[in-house]
Amino acid sequence: MRKSVLKKVAVIGAGVSGLSIARMLADKEMEVVVFEKETSPGGLIRCERVDGVLYHCVGGHVFNSRERLVLDWFWRIFDKNSFNQCIRNAVVMLEDGSKINYPIENHLYQLPESIRSAVIDDLIQIASNGYPSVENFADFLRHRFGETLYKLYFCPYNQKIWRRSLTDVPLSWLEGKLPMPTAKEILMANIMKEREQKMVHSSFYYPKQNGSQYIADRLASSLNVIYNTRVERITRENDKWCINDELFDAVIFCGNIKELPEMLKLDNLDISDVKLLQAHGTTSVLCEVPPSDYSWVYMPSSQYESHRIICTGNFSESNAPSGMSTATLEFTNPLSKEEILAQLDKLPVSVRYISHRYTHYTYPVQTNETSKIISAVKDKMKPLNMYLLGRFAEWEYYNMDAAISAAMKLASNF
Ligand SMILES: Cc1cc2nc3c(=O)[nH]c(=O)nc-3n(C[C@H](O)[C@H](O)[C@H](O)COP(=O)(O)OP(=O)(O)OC[C@H]3O[C@@H](n4cnc5c(N)ncnc54)[C@H](O)[C@@H]3O)c2cc1C
Repeated sequence: MRKSVLKKVAVIGAGVSGLSIARMLADKEMEVVVFEKETSPGGLIRCERVDGVLYHCVGGHVFNSRERLVLDWFWRIFDKNSFNQCIRNAVVMLEDGSKINYPIENHLYQLPESIRSAVIDDLIQIASNGYPSVENFADFLRHRFGETLYKLYFCPYNQKIWRRSLTDVPLSWLEGKLPMPTAKEILMANIMKEREQKMVHSSFYYPKQNGSQYIADRLASSLNVIYNTRVERITRENDKWCINDELFDAVIFCGNIKELPEMLKLDNLDISDVKLLQAHGTTSVLCEVPPSDYSWVYMPSSQYESHRIICTGNFSESNAPSGMSTATLEFTNPLSKEEILAQLDKLPVSVRYISHRYTHYTYPVQTNETSKIISAVKDKMKPLNMYLLGRFAEWEYYNMDAAISAAMKLASNF
């Protein structure tokens, strides 16, 4: 193992990114101090118990990866016996309440005849026209799945999340994150009644106890994490960084990059462009729901403001008291309790509200400028031994495994 000349490193943020890189650097025998503003680790994967029910404060987090190195690293820390291994059972709920298995394009035979026939016409046309090069998300979806599925599901569902025209979402951002089946593959999947396999979470691991908080707690164990400490100011002293009177050779920033200019205020360092970065928040509503065997329910219909239900209660028996089914509903905007109750009343099933929370930064929005802004900041910070890592440090649409993978790449440079 190569020994780094950087001996003492500060990591800001005890989310998955910060905890992962901290462990990787500690394994290289570096002294690592993690600063976390909250009282517990986890960031977006944090969970609490409300009335005995496990509540994912944001969404509902499950783990898997397509990267062998990430899986190897993860399973060196965790025992597979502490996780349930689940096959994803997701459905798309249409306007009339009917449910089509996910992904919708593989289950055309479950659609009403008139819609199915229109989709097949679209796919035949796509097969004969080929796939033109496209630059935005809307054109990608239209040319890949056809106009009928675009209008029925892809457009309304994604617009609920992104709250903007999909023509304004650059495709470069979604590279490697989207399935790209050909028309022939879609038709074959229908004939062969293929199960969903291509997405990273087609099958997933979920902790038997405490949901994703278990992952955060375990990653944080053995690390020097200073909780309840929001880093507000980072200064430069003789080629070192100073945080709360302690000197560090390097800093890995895993918080929100928009806060960095205010924290640093260094002469000759202009990173004010980060103010242009945009994001969405999420209201996560914990509910008691009727029993089902679903893992996710996607809701494209404009009748409901929520875009998906994550049936977190089905992921582990310990998530709710025996006999109770629970789930998290996601909304892309802040809602009052009254507004949430009105929304729950509209659902075709009876749902009991338990708790809710709005988290301001959950989905980084990428425009054509985003990667340029982030790269420019990285280039300015690297010679000073400050590095960016994480969903809102790099403004990347990372899942946990992508955050771990990014941590591995960064750690290999130390
Ligand atoms: C709705 C939703 C559902 C998701 N579902 C999944 C899923 O099922 N599976 C999956 O793999 N991924 C999922 N993800 C993605 C996953 O949440 C992220 O990839 C991961 O949690 C990002 O971790 P992070 O450490 O980069 O950022 P964060 O989790 O945001 O961590 C940042 C940490 O820094 C701390 N911090 C910030 N500023 C400061 C400061 N100044 N001083 C001290 N501390 C500070 C914060 O308190 C926080 O703990 C989902 C994301 C969302 C929004």
